[in-house]
Amino acid sequence: MSDCVFCKIVAGQIPSTKVHEDELTLAFMDIGEVNPGHVLVAVKPHVDNIYGLDDTLAAAVFRTAARVARAVKKAYAPEGMTLYQANGAAAGQTVFHFHLHLVPRYAEDGLRLTWPVKNPPREQLEANAARLRAALE
Ligand code: 5GP
Ligand code: ZN
Repeated sequence: MSDCVFCKIVAGQIPSTKVHEDELTLAFMDIGEVNPGHVLVAVKPHVDNIYGLDDTLAAAVFRTAARVARAVKKAYAPEGMTLYQANGAAAGQTVFHFHLHLVPRYAEDGLRLTWPVKNPPREQLEANAARLRAALE
């Protein structure tokens, strides 16, 4: 996709600070890093979001994520690590080329994800799961 910033990074048309690359994935520093060691792991082919990942790409991106996460742990020894991955503007996605964030975490580092727990009754969970099982391909 010609106007996609991550496609341009993958193609070397705009600069990035690379950590690792292989045939299918590229890991590079997030220009807006939250904490040192904040890395983005992107797929090389243009895929808008998680719905476009085939099994090979899905496996490749998580293999790279786990490998780079181990490097972040070794290099920075953070107190925690958050994987963040947004699909669609409503979910907070701002670059519409599939990527996930590895964010080293520290207590009181200011990153907030509010999680409004609903605790529905078991029957509701059963109905939700049945709906999903019927939709599985
Ligand atoms: P999203 O909001 O889609 O989950 O994450 C997009 C991320 O891409 C943001 O954290 C932003 O800082 C990062 N980003 C946007 N443009 C560039 C760029 O040109 N280079 C790099 N390295 N990161 C970028
Ligand atoms: Zn792209």
